[in-house]
Amino acid sequence: MVSNICQNCGGLMEWTGDRRKMRCPFCMSEFLIEERETDAFDKANVIDPLLFRSEWDISKLREKSNGKDFITEFLTGVNEVGSAEKEQENLFKILSKSDNSDMATESIHPELFRTAVQRVASVLEPGEKPLVYQNSGLFSKGKEGSVITDRRTITYDTKKVMFELHKDIRSLQLDNGGDIPSIRVNEQFAVRFSMIGTGYKGTGAAAAMICLYAFAQEPDLKQIRLV
Ligand SMILES: [Zn+2]
Repeated sequence: MVSNICQNCGGLMEWTGDRRKMRCPFCMSEFLIEERETDAFDKANVIDPLLFRSEWDISKLREKSNGKDFITEFLTGVNEVGSAEKEQENLFKILSKSDNSDMATESIHPELFRTAVQRVASVLEPGEKPLVYQNSGLFSKGKEGSVITDRRTITYDTKKVMFELHKDIRSLQLDNGGDIPSIRVNEQFAVRFSMIGTGYKGTGAAAAMICLYAFAQEPDLKQIRLV
């Protein structure tokens, strides 16, 4: 059984986005936790019930190969990997196995990546790191698409740039209607990504990563809804 009493000041501690860490909101001490009570849940089949309120039907998602790849990566990311930086490495590993020209990072299709980053530069803050670009227009070549950074998910077209900060994430909507699962951040039609061309593993890993960033960047965030 894990004690949630701060060893430093006796305050009641809270979970952080890192599953192995608790934080005291009174003295800001952080403590590493080896095991926690809720670690007993079935990690291969249940999305961490402490961090998420999920309406996703996991067994139904597993019936199709794209849904299966998506949910497997998401479960691994949030249940096992547990930190945004490590999940970012996992995402890059998945992307490096794809040579799809609709997707780019600093090292995969770097020119396409640079064009996209320039396109969204107006909303980036100093020190913000763009991680991945995904084309959404059929012949867009960087003119339309999504860019995920370490702070926000951005969607843009030729007219406008829209984004949601990771720290403002309260829900993710999985649109699994077609063959391509895509994620709407805060259920917004305008801000979404699907990581086309990465076998949908990329979509699951990217969704897990932005949730982990959300918990790390917004200490008051209790749960994310998955709809
Ligand atoms: Zn304390």
